Amino acid sequence: MVRMFGRQTTGSVVCASCGDLVGVNDDTCYNCGRRNPGLWGYASAVRRLGSDMGFVPFVVGMSVVLYVISLLMSGGNIMGGGMFGILSPSTQANLMLGASGAVPVFVFDRWWTVLSAGWLHGGLLHIFFNMYWVRQLAPAVSDLYGPGRMVIVYTVATIVGFLMSSFAGAFLGWIPIPMLRGAQLTVGASAAIFGLLGALVYYGRRTGSSAVYSQALTYAAIMFLFGFVMSSIDNWAHAGGFVGGYVAGRLLDPLQPERINHVAWALGCLVLSVLSIIVSVLHGLYLG
Ligand SMILES: [Zn+2]
Repeated sequence: MVRMFGRQTTGSVVCASCGDLVGVNDDTCYNCGRRNPGLWGYASAVRRLGSDMGFVPFVVGMSVVLYVISLLMSGGNIMGGGMFGILSPSTQANLMLGASGAVPVFVFDRWWTVLSAGWLHGGLLHIFFNMYWVRQLAPAVSDLYGPGRMVIVYTVATIVGFLMSSFAGAFLGWIPIPMLRGAQLTVGASAAIFGLLGALVYYGRRTGSSAVYSQALTYAAIMFLFGFVMSSIDNWAHAGGFVGGYVAGRLLDPLQPERINHVAWALGCLVLSVLSIIVSVLHGLYLG
């Protein structure tokens, strides 16, 4: 029998790697050779996690919860001033929770912040606009790639985006164009949002869907240009996120159906994301 989080002990399931039917207790898949193809009986539970429970609300929910925590940690130091300064958590709070950029990565060796920073935001409008775009784009990527691969795209884009902006912040400070100097300190889901757009652009190319291709590319171009007009936008995170999402989409191949494997990898991505925040706080407390 199958329960929500229960372990299936009898009958057959689809292999987590190739999708062929296997016995739930089989050691290897006769088709693709994967070991434990039924994920020790948890394959059905893992699959439901991706389809029914919804990764999209989780991504939005975790970002909102962390934003509220960052405000609470700021105490009386919530910054104001300017439209984009409304309800800004203190720099201290976001640093503690895992802001990325040249300073955290290269000065304090907090390399895991290239993941944690994607879950943090610098103000009310910042999180509002980013979550608006996540809610616009993540369901589309979920539909076309599957919810598991959406989370993988989201995570890879975050990491690649903040790696690029941190490296640029550390090594390209001499560039005469201020918008290309990378970031000393950076947070936000926009690298991931550009990653979702990159994955959609790749989907359009791969499947020949010119509607998806041109719409996603247009969004990306407008948002990228917007970043050049506005000051203090992390353009390297945008560019890196787009490239990360495009390449992830290519590696995951949207013409192949999503496998339970992908959902398991996605769970791993979310666990690593939560861990990156926890490690940030512990490391921050340890350093004092
Ligand atoms: Zn298999």
